[in-house]
Parts: sequence; C-alpha cells; structure tokens
Amino acid sequence: MRVGVMGGTFDPIHIGHLVAASEVAHRFALDRVVFVPTGQPWQKSDRHVSAPEDRYLMTVIATAADDRFSVSRVDVDRDGPTYTVDTLRDIRTECGEDHDFHFITGADALGEILSWREPDEVLRLAHLVGVTRPGHVLADPGLAPGRVTLLEIPALAISSSDIRARVARGEPIRYLVTPGVEAYIAKVGLYAG
Ligand code: ATP
Ligand code: MG
Repeated sequence: MRVGVMGGTFDPIHIGHLVAASEVAHRFALDRVVFVPTGQPWQKSDRHVSAPEDRYLMTVIATAADDRFSVSRVDVDRDGPTYTVDTLRDIRTECGEDHDFHFITGADALGEILSWREPDEVLRLAHLVGVTRPGHVLADPGLAPGRVTLLEIPALAISSSDIRARVARGEPIRYLVTPGVEAYIAKVGLYAG
C-alpha cells in the first residue's frame, strides 16, 4: 500500500488542501491519503486556533465523498503540541509499518522543515512531497537526497487565514471550501467577526 499523509491545521480545510492531496495521489499512485488535523499547533501558538473537534469534523465532512481519503485522530487525541515526527510514528502504528508513506506539504511548510523536530527521522519515516503554492517558493530543503520530491500542482491562491478573514468580514467563501464545510462554519458560528 502506498499511503499519503496530509497534515494541517485545517482551520478550515479548503479546496487547496483537497487539490494538493488529489494531485499527489494521482502522480504518486497512492492508494489512499490520510488527512491528519493537528492538535494544538506549535507554529501557531500566537493566534486562536479553533477547537480540534471542529477542525476534525470539517476535515471529515470535506473528505467524506472521496474513497481515497480518510481522516486520522492521532494528533487531535495526543496531548501537547503536534510534531510531524510523532504524527508519522502514530500513523505508521495505525496503518501498519509495511506501507510506503508520503508526507504531503505545501511550499511554505516545506521551507520550515529544518525547524521541525527530528527532520532526519521524518525523512526516514516518509518520502516528502513538496507541492507548489502561490506566493511561496518551492525549494528542496537540501536534506537526505532522494527523500524529497517537488511537484507542481494547479495553483489555488487560497489559505485558511484568508477564509477566516472573509467570514469575519461577511464575504462569501462558497467554492473556496466544500458545501458541507461552508454549512458547518455557518451552523457553529466559526470565525464570525
Ligand atoms: P493558515 O492560513 O491558517 O496557515 P493554510 O491555508 O496554510 O492555513 P494549513 O492547514 O496551514 O492551511 O496547511 C496544511 C498544509 O496544506 C500545508 O502543508 C500547506 O502548505 C498546504 N496548503 C495549504 N493551502 C495550500 C494551497 N492553496 N496550495 C498548496 N498547498 C496548500
Ligand atoms: Mg498554513
């Protein structure tokens, strides 16, 4: 089995995330992609992050109709900040060690890999796939030759930050997120200004 792992805050999950996962699944012939919403993200401790349960549910809603996609609770259920190395260890335990894991990350997050905990171990546990993202330069961080692949994907200049700001300003988010996620945000009242 070839398994993609797509980690993110997903506050909220948007179509940029779904296109990235779908494109990597196609290009790397992945059997499935596991989306892993973070617990309390350590890079974002400076801003309010929605409750893990809301972010987890939106991720389930957004991915439910795609047979290739599933959602894991490993990071949501682990106490403390989320580190990618822990995510990969727990996903390997959950899925079975004998799979070929591909960790999917956008150009911005790939650039930060040197600041991740145990980057060499991350690269031992999974192949890293860096995808293009508008506004960010996609570059190989220069660790472990052969363990990182860069991939151009359709450009979607969408971010969760922008979606939160749009909701706060009363602007539309239709077509930036799936209809179910749009409905969930309205129902729970997330991001309202
Ligand atoms: P925020 O603005 O809150 O940081 P975000 O849109 O960057 O949200 P994250 O949950 O931080 O979303 O991102 C999860 C992963 O998805 C990261 O690896 C990020 O680089 C990638 N990603 C997010 N949006 C896109 C996009 N539009 N195109 C390609 N990759 C993306
Ligand atoms: Mg981000």
